[in-house]
Amino acid sequence: MKNSRTLASLAAAVLVAGACSDAPTSTAPAAEDADQQLRKQVEALGFRGDMVEDFGDYVVVEGDIRLSKAQLLTARQAPAGGAMGPRFQFSTTALVGSPKVHQIRVDVTGLAAEPDWQNAARTAIGLWSQVPNSYIQIVEGSPADITFALGCLAWNWAAQASWPAGGDPGPTITVNRDNCIGFGLNNQQRLQNMVHEIGHTLGFRHTNWSALNEQNDPAHTQIGAVHIPGTPGTGGDPGSVMNGGMALNAWAGFSANDQLAARTLYPLPVPSLAVAYVSGQPYLTWPSIVGATFVVHRKYSSQGQDEFGWFTGDGSAGTISNVSSPFTDTGWTYTGNQTCYWDQGSGYWLEKGYWYTLEAQFPTGSTFSYANAEVGDC
Ligand SMILES: [Zn+2]
Repeated sequence: MKNSRTLASLAAAVLVAGACSDAPTSTAPAAEDADQQLRKQVEALGFRGDMVEDFGDYVVVEGDIRLSKAQLLTARQAPAGGAMGPRFQFSTTALVGSPKVHQIRVDVTGLAAEPDWQNAARTAIGLWSQVPNSYIQIVEGSPADITFALGCLAWNWAAQASWPAGGDPGPTITVNRDNCIGFGLNNQQRLQNMVHEIGHTLGFRHTNWSALNEQNDPAHTQIGAVHIPGTPGTGGDPGSVMNGGMALNAWAGFSANDQLAARTLYPLPVPSLAVAYVSGQPYLTWPSIVGATFVVHRKYSSQGQDEFGWFTGDGSAGTISNVSSPFTDTGWTYTGNQTCYWDQGSGYWLEKGYWYTLEAQFPTGSTFSYANAEVGDC
């Protein structure tokens, strides 16, 4: 995450202005052609072409997103109409695969020399792993998918991250060393930066394109990026941790739309339940899901008419926890009836329907699958 205008104006008096990362670097004609080429490749990915910094093997765009030259060469072309534009919660087409997103391992040992940053990184991976109903799970481990390191970046950057590729998260997050960064940060600001940079490695782009002055250009909307459904319109989301240029913000939690974006891009997998009958007993099967534990619920619905009027409701005939597929249910018996109907005279009646609910439980929520059960004892 790069720190933007406010700090730049404060710090310019005491720091070398030429270090500003936004300045174009080359004016030589031959190099200009190469720069133009690079700019087009970057814009084809939907990033701003006017914020490209060339570091040889890789470029940095929008201040803190690292793209390898190899990524640029293999990137798909954006639709015609220009680059830039997206300013809501959004991602590019490069995302982390599943179940990889549930098995991300990180190495934070490279931050050991600056323990405040290391603590912030550790807290941040926990925060991403607790977003309700998102499949994102990140732990420390080896081999690492994301390696945190200290580096010496431009004075006005706090940190930078790389983008996902090939179904893997962005492999690097570089934190600006204390003796390179041009401003002081407290621990809540460090945490904000670490949550933000991890977001980039998961494929989240900057939320606040409007603050980056793209909002008045109709040709530059949502090209080369995927607007995440349900996240805000042109009003943006000031509370989003994925806003760019906010390195001085203190961590204040994920916004509601950040959470929506996380569970939309990386939803919990939904199980798929099938019921057969073997030797008179229901025989339940489902494909395994990484990270899930399963609970089987025997369920029935009732509706009818009695002296008090019409009624309806669901009931439970038992719950079985920690089940794995295949599961033979000895608590219900095959009868061939999914529903039963009883005429109770005087206009009164009762109807019951029987089914199974398979619940897949994850650290951040549950998903469900339903299948009828032919167990009605009519
Ligand atoms: Zn950023």
